Amino acid sequence: MVEAMSQLQKEKAQLQEELVVLRERLTLHDSEQQATTTQLQNQVENLKEKLISQSQEVSRLQSELGGTDLEKHRDLLMVENERLRQELQCCEAELQALRAQPAATPCQGCEHVQESTQLRDKVSQLQMEVLENKGMLSELNLEVQQKTDRLAEVELRLKDCLAEKAQEEERLSRRLRNSHETIASLQAQSPPVKYVIKTVEVDSSKTKQALNESQARNQHLQEQVAMQRQVLKEMEQQLESSNQLTTQLRSQISMYETELERAHGKMLEEMQSMEEDKNRAIEEAFARAQVEMKAVHENLAGVRTNLLTLQPALRTLTNDYNGLKRQVRSFPLLLQEALQSVKAEIGQAIEEVNTNNQELLRKYRRELQLRKKCHNELVRLKGNIRVIARVRPITKEDGEGPKAASVVTFDPDDDAVIHLLHKGKPVSFELDKVFSPGASQQDVFQEVQALITSCIDGFNVCIFAYGQTGAGKTYTMEGTRENPGINQRALQLLFSEVQEKAADWEYTITVSVTEIYNEVLRDLLGTEPQEKLEIRLCPDGSGQLYVPGLTEFQVQSVEDINKVFEFGHNNRTTEFTNMNEHSSRSHALLIVTVRGRDCSTGLCTIGKLNLVDLAGSERVGKSGAEGSRLREAQHINKSLSALGDVIAALRSRQGHVPFRNSKLTYLLQDSLNGDSKTLMVVQVSPVEKNSSETLCSLRFAERVRSVELGPGARHTELRSWSSQEHLELEPACQTPQPSARAHSAPASGTSSRPGSIRRKLQSSGKLKPVPV
Ligand code: ADP
Ligand code: MG
Repeated sequence: MVEAMSQLQKEKAQLQEELVVLRERLTLHDSEQQATTTQLQNQVENLKEKLISQSQEVSRLQSELGGTDLEKHRDLLMVENERLRQELQCCEAELQALRAQPAATPCQGCEHVQESTQLRDKVSQLQMEVLENKGMLSELNLEVQQKTDRLAEVELRLKDCLAEKAQEEERLSRRLRNSHETIASLQAQSPPVKYVIKTVEVDSSKTKQALNESQARNQHLQEQVAMQRQVLKEMEQQLESSNQLTTQLRSQISMYETELERAHGKMLEEMQSMEEDKNRAIEEAFARAQVEMKAVHENLAGVRTNLLTLQPALRTLTNDYNGLKRQVRSFPLLLQEALQSVKAEIGQAIEEVNTNNQELLRKYRRELQLRKKCHNELVRLKGNIRVIARVRPITKEDGEGPKAASVVTFDPDDDAVIHLLHKGKPVSFELDKVFSPGASQQDVFQEVQALITSCIDGFNVCIFAYGQTGAGKTYTMEGTRENPGINQRALQLLFSEVQEKAADWEYTITVSVTEIYNEVLRDLLGTEPQEKLEIRLCPDGSGQLYVPGLTEFQVQSVEDINKVFEFGHNNRTTEFTNMNEHSSRSHALLIVTVRGRDCSTGLCTIGKLNLVDLAGSERVGKSGAEGSRLREAQHINKSLSALGDVIAALRSRQGHVPFRNSKLTYLLQDSLNGDSKTLMVVQVSPVEKNSSETLCSLRFAERVRSVELGPGARHTELRSWSSQEHLELEPACQTPQPSARAHSAPASGTSSRPGSIRRKLQSSGKLKPVPV
């Protein structure tokens, strides 16, 4: 579209340029024609003058009739005639050129007519251009008109000139006739002349000669005049041709005019068609406008009807508005009233909420108690004493050879079963869970962490590590610095749990580190670790036990724990030179107390976590110990037996639990009793040389676990047993046989058992009788 527009514009510019050139040519042609005409007029004028002067000369010569001066004039006239002839030739050439020039013009004009037709076609497309062309055409018209006028003038002038020439010719011929007549009259006057001739005989011949010469000259002049006439004739012919040219030009002009008229007609037609289009468009627009007007009228009518229907609504709205205005006026009063009533309502609601809150608090407390009760019941049903075994990996200390080979295998489908090859015989045990040597500290901790967190809820928890020396008890409980055991992990877990509950609860965590060696309880965090501690009943009559003078350290971070452990360790090492041996012969206890207070209810909880690294359970008889070594063994045996008894009594729901049979069970009484939770980790050495001890430990573990729970068990009392006793009497001990035994007082329980042990040991011959 843009390209077409630019193309049209270019064409328009070209046409305009061509028009300008045409106009210039026209003006040039006009001016040339004018100049030629004036030139011709001038030449005619000159010729006339020359003719006049020549005629005058002829008359003067005729009057003078001869003399030498006449001859000179004659020569001069001849020269002049020659020049005039030349000038005439030039004029002819110019006229020829002029004739050739106008012949080219119509041809050019024809092209322009075609171009102008094209232009008109284009002009018809663009009204503006048509208008411009119209202007230009009118200008051309005007110019043509002017030219025509000028040509008419020239014609008129030429006619006048011709008339004048004719008159002049007539006059000249008249004069010539007159001169002939004069010459004839002169010839007729011969007598006087004869007289003269007689008197001037000599002179008369000369004069006759001169006359003859002048007659000849006259003849010649007449010839020249005839020639001039010829020239004049030629000029007339030229004028005629010029007239023909003018007619040609006129015909061209008329052609142009008809062309113009046609263009004008076309233009008028176009204008008419445009006018029609315009009218049609106006009519269409009018029709459209009428339709729209109609629609608008209809809309208006609709709006009017709407307005009519809206009027009642407006009336009701106005009424409403007035009503609202009235209400707004009375609003402050209403608001005040409403505020008062709302205040009263709020007060009432607050009171109700308060009472509801009280009720909810009461219900919450009851719910808490219920939850604890449910939990206890759940624990009771699940069994709040669990036994797991952990087999340590074979170490360098185990040595090499067949004695150091592993005799422990596991069931890939059941992680609660362990198989032991003892003296070539396979024995299987089923516990709550068995950890193979590959189990990590974290794996073990994973198993016990539920117990530890329950301590935050106010439950008492005991975790024991049981097993022969070197089976991994200390590793499981304490672990190494890089890979800590249950003790440190438990405290870390407690810290993080407490942190999580910090928004609602305030907690304090305290730790005590104690040791029971040869039935003596010692405070490892105290300033005097060698001092014996006593276990006493709380004077408040709650039945709770407490250890007067036992040091408690509050801990808040792992650093605190490490410091406490280090302190306890140092106290233990300074006391005993052979630390390894001592530690295996004593029970190490880490007692963690978690005291919590619910910020919203003020409810207080207290939970105890007892982490116990028991003394080695191996049979001392093997080494043939005596003296202090034997005493140690007896104490260990006693306390481990007591622990077994207590656990058995607890699991079987016996009415009496012999806590007082050892310092260990007595100290842990409140953590083993009631809804407390106990976990026994039985540590196992996998090597062949320890298979007897392993068998012993696993049997102890199985016994602890296999004591039946349930209402029937409540009234069933297990026979008292010890960790070593059953090992000595293998057939009897392989399956624990619950035996009816009267409830014995703690003192009698303790007094009867060592005797039986001694008896058994004596009968086996493995232990020398010693006084207990
Ligand atoms: P106990 O305390 O029963 O006498 P220890 O815990 O002192 O036995 O363990 C004896 C050795 O066996 C230690 O050198 C200990 O590092 C290593 N040990 C015990 N259990 C593991 C275990 N699960 N993984 C790696 N080494 C262990
Ligand atoms: Mg140890």
